[in-house]
Amino acid sequence: MRIFAIGRNYAEHIQELNNERPDEPVIFTKPDTAILRNNAPFYYPSFSNDIHHEVELVLRICKEGKNIEEKFASKYYDAIGVGIDFTARDIQSKLKAKSLPWDISKGFNGSAPISDKFITIDQFPDKKAINFKLEVNGELKQAGNTSLLLFSFDYIISYLSKFFTLRTGDLIFTGTPKGVGPVVIGDTLTAYIEDEKLLEFEVK
Ligand code: MG
Repeated sequence: MRIFAIGRNYAEHIQELNNERPDEPVIFTKPDTAILRNNAPFYYPSFSNDIHHEVELVLRICKEGKNIEEKFASKYYDAIGVGIDFTARDIQSKLKAKSLPWDISKGFNGSAPISDKFITIDQFPDKKAINFKLEVNGELKQAGNTSLLLFSFDYIISYLSKFFTLRTGDLIFTGTPKGVGPVVIGDTLTAYIEDEKLLEFEVK
């Protein structure tokens, strides 16, 4: 399986990092070694002093496809989980300044904690109005709603599948809302979809 991720998909997050609003989705990937499951702890890596949390909804692909038309895209994902797109912001900022690829700042070991439970799409009355949030040590840090997505889930699937064959089990991080910020050793991160707690782990 592969992990695809969309950058810059919520306007207020683009503003907080002073990024340009993209005309097409910004795509990057993480290797499967980035995944943390079972609420496993995240070990703060020695190569960074500025690891940021980015809470994101994660789509699960349920059917192989390429060149998927947007109108058929909803047949290709069946469930939504929540994950953290951990980012070594100090490394990413240096790479961005040189127009170099971000991979090491986004794809390092443990950079993708993901909920064990995924909620099937049919359980959402409206997939364009899904709330999700992140608390750090019980304090609300990020709250998002899919009504604020610049590129919809269906558009993302269609766009990604022009370049990459999507396969069953692939995961797509769909972008983070505003409120990203640093984590420190000892923090507990808790992520929710609506009011259901789906992910909780410690930074060690
Ligand atoms: Mg992100």
